[in-house]
Amino acid sequence: MKLYHAIVVGAGLAGLQCTRLLAGHGLEVALVDRKQSLAEGVHTTGIFVRRSLEDFALPAAHMGPAIRDVTIYSPSRRTVELRSPHEEFRIGRMGPLYERLLKDCRAAGADWLAGTSFVSASENRLGSTVRLRGASGEFELQTRMIVGADGTNSRVARELGLSENRRWIVGYEEVYHRETPTGEPRLHCFFDRNYAPGYIAWVADDGQGLHLGVGGYGRKFQPPAALDRFRDSVADLIPLDRATLIERRGGRIPVGSVLPRLACRRGLLLGDAAGAVSPLTAGGLDPCLRLSELAAKTVHAFLNSGGDVSQLAAYDGRLFRKRYRARRALRAVYDLAASNVILELGFRALRSTAGQAVARRIFFGNGSFPTITAPEYRAARAKAVRTTT
Ligand SMILES: Cc1cc2nc3c(=O)[nH]c(=O)nc-3n(C[C@H](O)[C@H](O)[C@H](O)COP(=O)(O)OP(=O)(O)OC[C@H]3O[C@@H](n4cnc5c(N)ncnc54)[C@H](O)[C@@H]3O)c2cc1C
Repeated sequence: MKLYHAIVVGAGLAGLQCTRLLAGHGLEVALVDRKQSLAEGVHTTGIFVRRSLEDFALPAAHMGPAIRDVTIYSPSRRTVELRSPHEEFRIGRMGPLYERLLKDCRAAGADWLAGTSFVSASENRLGSTVRLRGASGEFELQTRMIVGADGTNSRVARELGLSENRRWIVGYEEVYHRETPTGEPRLHCFFDRNYAPGYIAWVADDGQGLHLGVGGYGRKFQPPAALDRFRDSVADLIPLDRATLIERRGGRIPVGSVLPRLACRRGLLLGDAAGAVSPLTAGGLDPCLRLSELAAKTVHAFLNSGGDVSQLAAYDGRLFRKRYRARRALRAVYDLAASNVILELGFRALRSTAGQAVARRIFFGNGSFPTITAPEYRAARAKAVRTTT
């Protein structure tokens, strides 16, 4: 039986990016996803932030027009307008984008197993025997490493005994398309506990595509019903008469910050499976791209070293968690705003000069997933060597 260097479970943005990089290093990689087609069941709005747009070569053909303007709404619909001198956001056309990244993975030599679910993994002398389920039943593959890019509720994390997400919100949205582009691209963010308890409701409109969604703690609201009410409440503000509903999307978004234990000698986690999402903004696409680079480097170094576990030491969620302290604190404060009255009062503060500076920093600050410096990595590696010798 063929022995893979890595089996990547999950062909979302994280799994695709990591597979492309691993295969590009010349490793034997298999990418598996339970979906038959990556254009189905997308569960992201697909807003990429400036930092991702600047640092990663995302295919321009699958990215919408740039968005520079943000309007923030209080529960009583008072507004704060923010305009950036930069092109801050673009909404990816995620189905075609995933398909294009998959093509790159295959061109780099990766094997693609569509409609194939990861079932379990057992340890063996060389790494793991991975049990998968495809259309014609269950089968096994051998691999040195398993990369868990299988989303918030990661089965790979459970099988490898790595950390698992315990806190998440739920996002649910409708995607509309306009034949004739209209209006200025704009991101509308609504603070309102009625539609979005614990997060925001949004309209992300780049003129061509329009995403209308709600997010919040799953136990506190019914997302489809909240979306219906939200759509009605913005009907005068955002007319949908010349827009066609093409899709509904939804899913869990981890907000407990990066998980601590992300790697062991049999594999590692990335993307939502690693909890690599900003606890404040719930943005996870930039972390997918950044963590995939580190994951691919780590797998490569680990295999090249003949399985030296100190090579895994720098792939440690605790390094990232430290950098998420401020965002975790802001989420805790936001969670305390348990009613629209409190949100309205908070919004007054947001309209002040200092408040707007904070808002600009959150929306336009050029920081997404934390960058860990080379000395920090070296220190983490050295510590791991000391504790294993
Ligand atoms: C409604 C919504 C809107 C969002 N909007 C934004 C946004 O605009 N910008 C932003 O930055 N972030 C956004 N996020 C967060 C962001 O989308 C995620 O952080 C990111 O997409 C996670 O990518 P991933 O590759 O880790 O996981 P996923 O995209 O969830 O991919 C996981 C893949 O694993 C597969 N899989 C799962 N289990 C198995 C199994 N057992 N066997 C085989 N395959 C399996 C799934 O089919 C899936 O394809 C949003 C999230 C939601 C829910």
